[in-house]
Amino acid sequence: MNSAATIALAVSVLAAVVLLSMVIRYRAERRKLLESLDPKSDESLEDAARRVAEQAAFCDEIPRLKFRLDMLLKESPLPMMIVDGERTIINLSHSAEDQLDQPRRRRGLLETLESHELDDAARKAMETQKPVETTIRLYASGRRPFHVWVFPYEAQGAPECIIFLRDIAEAVDYGELRSQFAATVSHELRTPLAGIKAMVESLQEPELDPEDRQRFLARVDNESTRLAQLIDELLFLSTLESGPEQDLRGECLLMPLSEEIMEELRPLAERFEVALENQVPRDIHLPLEGRMATTVLTNLLENAIKYSGHGSRVELLAEKGSDGVRVTVRDDGIGIDAEHLSHIFERFYRVDKSRSKHLGGTGLGLSIVKHIVESSGGEVEVESREGFGTSVSFTLPQ
Ligand code: ADP
Repeated sequence: MNSAATIALAVSVLAAVVLLSMVIRYRAERRKLLESLDPKSDESLEDAARRVAEQAAFCDEIPRLKFRLDMLLKESPLPMMIVDGERTIINLSHSAEDQLDQPRRRRGLLETLESHELDDAARKAMETQKPVETTIRLYASGRRPFHVWVFPYEAQGAPECIIFLRDIAEAVDYGELRSQFAATVSHELRTPLAGIKAMVESLQEPELDPEDRQRFLARVDNESTRLAQLIDELLFLSTLESGPEQDLRGECLLMPLSEEIMEELRPLAERFEVALENQVPRDIHLPLEGRMATTVLTNLLENAIKYSGHGSRVELLAEKGSDGVRVTVRDDGIGIDAEHLSHIFERFYRVDKSRSKHLGGTGLGLSIVKHIVESSGGEVEVESREGFGTSVSFTLPQ
């Protein structure tokens, strides 16, 4: 064999070997492909490949969906629960665990939350496969109203539902409070107005004795001052409630401000023969805007003077502590009975209605104090013993 023929043979053998190995690789790859695609009998390899690609994408979605659901159950401020067809709680949000009384995973909805209405809402939603929306009272630190949405769906052919709850106690309380408030306000305004109207009618009598005329005029003056004060305080309260909270905060040096307020109140203190003592350290700052600080201190000092009785002593004290500045107005006057103590910060609440009215009170002073202090992140406190005196304190974080 000549060299040309030898080379041709070698190339052919090499080509055959390469071809063979390619065929073997192709078959192995094809088998692997067929195994992984597992085409159905009526399916082309291309369709099978598309289907597998979709499944792979879906498999990729599952951990992401699971992560999102976990995040939702962890972070959702609305209590949420996932419930199966047997109405067993499969999963629930942290907020549901925090806000409701003892809901548990793998326990019946009815068994743990003790609400037939909620159980019925879940059953109805899953039976009809239609969302249910209702309002139900549930145990959540007492019985509180919740707005409930139940969304049914099917998971691998089995019914399940997701329940969202929204605590509406505040909205309900606020609605009730608002209508009560409107009724009280109109009553409070109508009383001095009726008095003024009656006296103005008497003043129109041509035969009226000059002394009576003077007396009626003084009463009209008195009632209109009270009415104006009531309207001012109501307006102040509503601007406080609707205004931004940062308007309340600021900084003022307590000593000069309290001296100024005490000077203003000196004539009232003299009238009631009350001794005023300012014990405030010089270096204390109040974290309140000037007008707010004046309102709070004036209200507390004025109350102590008016209600403590003749010959009493009223002290203003202040100290810096780890939780902020604490200011106290202490008197050794008539005190407040325990049954009234928890109510004195409510609007229009007066222990002795006729005494308060006689002293020009509106019943709004302490509710304004409480509002300013609490909206600035602080707390008010009262201690009192009937016959021994009262201490009203507030603490504000610095
Ligand atoms: P008012 O305008 O009637 O003073 P407040 O809201 O300031 O309203 O106070 C509510 C009620 O709390 C008063 O009517 C009074 O009965 C009682 N009170 C407040 N401070 C004192 C105090 N230092 N001593 C006794 N009673 C007080």
